Amino acid sequence: MSDRGKPVAARVDGKIVDLSRLTDHNPGVELIYADSPEGVEVLRHSTAHLMAQAVQSLYPGTQVTIGPVIEDGFFYDFAPPTPFTSDDLPRIEAKMKELAKADFRVERVEMDRAEAIKMFEAMGEHYKVEILNGIADERVSIYKQGGWMDLCRGPHVPSTGHIKAFKLTSVAGAYWRGDERNAMLSRIYGTSFGSKDALEEHLKLLELARARDHRKLGREMGLFLFDPISPGAPFFLPKGATIYNQLVEYIRRLYRRYGFDEVITPQIYKNELWQRSGHWDNFRENMFLTSDGESGKLELDSSPEGWRQGYGVKPMNCPGHTFIYASEKRSYRDLPLRIADFGRLHRAEPSGTLHGLTRVRTMVQDDAHCFCAPEQIGEEISLNIRMVRDVFPALGFESVEFKVATMPEKHLGTEEEWRRNEKILGDALTQNGYPWEINPGEGAFYGPKIEYYVPDALKRKWQLATIQLDFNMPERFGLKYTTAAGVEAQPVMIHRAILGSLERFIGVLIEHTGGVLPFWLAPEQARVLSLTEKVETYAAEIAALLKGAGFRASADLRNEKLGFKVREAELAKVPYMVVVGEREAAARTVSIRLLRGEKSRTAALEDLLDLLKAEPLPA
Ligand SMILES: [Zn+2]
Ligand SMILES: [Zn+2]
Repeated sequence: MSDRGKPVAARVDGKIVDLSRLTDHNPGVELIYADSPEGVEVLRHSTAHLMAQAVQSLYPGTQVTIGPVIEDGFFYDFAPPTPFTSDDLPRIEAKMKELAKADFRVERVEMDRAEAIKMFEAMGEHYKVEILNGIADERVSIYKQGGWMDLCRGPHVPSTGHIKAFKLTSVAGAYWRGDERNAMLSRIYGTSFGSKDALEEHLKLLELARARDHRKLGREMGLFLFDPISPGAPFFLPKGATIYNQLVEYIRRLYRRYGFDEVITPQIYKNELWQRSGHWDNFRENMFLTSDGESGKLELDSSPEGWRQGYGVKPMNCPGHTFIYASEKRSYRDLPLRIADFGRLHRAEPSGTLHGLTRVRTMVQDDAHCFCAPEQIGEEISLNIRMVRDVFPALGFESVEFKVATMPEKHLGTEEEWRRNEKILGDALTQNGYPWEINPGEGAFYGPKIEYYVPDALKRKWQLATIQLDFNMPERFGLKYTTAAGVEAQPVMIHRAILGSLERFIGVLIEHTGGVLPFWLAPEQARVLSLTEKVETYAAEIAALLKGAGFRASADLRNEKLGFKVREAELAKVPYMVVVGEREAAARTVSIRLLRGEKSRTAALEDLLDLLKAEPLPA
């Protein structure tokens, strides 16, 4: 037996099935282990069954409903006589361990749907009856283990003894079928892994994620706040705005180097723009629109001209940029034309999806559009790839994974054109030395794109930069240029963002770094802490010296104990704590304490300045 443990299922003809369904002769069968994505899914669903079995044995009168596998785990929704609380979890877990140890065989039984309905009716499982009534199949499968059973498609592990490393993580209320007019159910979340080590590592990451939650750190570091007066819209406080502006400045340096010109474009446009761009038909639900005056619901505008009516706040910059392109007659000599825009965007995200900075209704992207001739696509894509090269390492991310998102089912243009352009994107990545994978069918309807996936310290992958080819918008807005041969042709538009939404990026960066940002981004780079009142002048002098040299520094001169001041500076994630007492004042030295470990050490005042000056800046 390998160290992968026992197989949990098998793949036959591309389908994952129970091991018990293998016959003597299964050509091409592949055993599935719990350390593979498919295997861990089987294991987690079986763990959900084990939990339901434990719950029903501990809490008689509880009905089962559904229990699917989700990312990183599973849940099961129950209808118990009294709702569960987190206090119930240890008891349920203990019972699950007992049932796992008993190593019940997991059996699959098929029966007529009518028969199954009768059986679950007799058991008082009304939700299962409702589910069965909604199924079209005449035959259904039931999974049984140790006298307990559930309606289920499977597959499952061969016996409950395969379930060895699991944890119930939380309890929540959930409406039956997600509809608030229905009964409130009790949902229990849990997770399960093929080995104890894998489970432990996952639980550690969960704990770390809680400790690093950017909403919590943002409060502690004084970066931003939210208020119900504008849901999903952050108020960046001075320190948060510093991080924000530093990122913008960094990207601006890249713009200068790579030939992008920045523009500033309108915030609101007449709805005819959105009709023309296609947003009206495809994105209107996510837009903030002024009253159109026809609905009769909102008469915001009583002026005779009606100039306040029929506007939409931009959710994207692209349609506006086509007007800049079209403002002059363009020839092949003008191309590529690259324009960048830090314009504020608004998107009406549903309130249930809002989450701190990572899902907001107002955002700014490091957004740019390159207009080029079709034969320039390869070189233009390559330039954008080179531009992004140093960004993520400079921000402390170790690796990037690349995907080329290809032709989706709903698409414009022929398959031949798509394959040709997908190849251009892939080749550009290869030429720049990047391995990449295909993300099948995930391109935008108007063209393929390169996606950058950046793993963070919590092993989550964020899709950040994107480079998208677009043949549609130039067509919709009738963009043209004159070729070298004097013929009119249509340019291609490339949409490109590096960090993406700055709001979301800052949220990701805070969680990735735990708030310990690279020195050049730290909102407060040094804080001078005075030990006694007698050294106030000296402490203030140092802070002034650092500020004069261009650093973001402050002095904490309060009459508080040093330990207290240090803790506060640590909470604010200030990289350099500069402690001064009477001895330091007399010798014109400082005691330097770093946020990132290391013991404190004494240095001359000039050395402190040199130390800060030596901190790396991104290229
Ligand atoms: Zn099931
Ligand atoms: Zn765009």
